[in-house]
Amino acid sequence: MTDVGSTLPKDSDWAIERILELFEKRGEERYGGEDVSQTQHALQSGWAAEKEGADAELISAALLHDLGHLLHNLPDDCADMGVDDKHEDLAYRWLTRYFGPRVTEPIRLHVEAKRYLCAVQPRYQSTLSEASLTSLRLQGGPFTPAEVEEFQANPHHTEAIRLRGWDDEAKIKDLVTPDLFHFKNYLIQAAGSASRS
Ligand code: FE
Repeated sequence: MTDVGSTLPKDSDWAIERILELFEKRGEERYGGEDVSQTQHALQSGWAAEKEGADAELISAALLHDLGHLLHNLPDDCADMGVDDKHEDLAYRWLTRYFGPRVTEPIRLHVEAKRYLCAVQPRYQSTLSEASLTSLRLQGGPFTPAEVEEFQANPHHTEAIRLRGWDDEAKIKDLVTPDLFHFKNYLIQAAGSASRS
């Protein structure tokens, strides 16, 4: 694990600074087998959410959904080596100390959302990139009917599906987006609304 947050506590301001530092230190790493970096993927996801009129929590979820890739030291192509990095759980466990479930649940569920969509929308699987299909196999493949039902019972599943759509599109080489500083305000808002609720 990268050494962020291992010395616990602090508040959400501290966490947001650590998140920005993580992108600064490791954001240039390649996003799986795609033509974008981790930071480009995060910014494209967050921007797609913003353009669709999502609120601060869901924009933050989109921006941070793959933070888990920056919290471990496995190679970016570990899926090709047959390793599921469980990045959604890593991000969830780290972020859940500072953000509420409207941010962290869609993140935790974004891999399950892919498995769900493969089960309920037969054409969806054919839209996935090669890298995404490789990780799908490692993640357990399309959901069974029982898993579909369980997923639908989660109150955050609709947001997870929306996030999944932005995630799938956020692989466009050289797309110009707003920068991380633009999204920092959403993180501050999202953390604030979690502490008030
Ligand atoms: Fe992603």
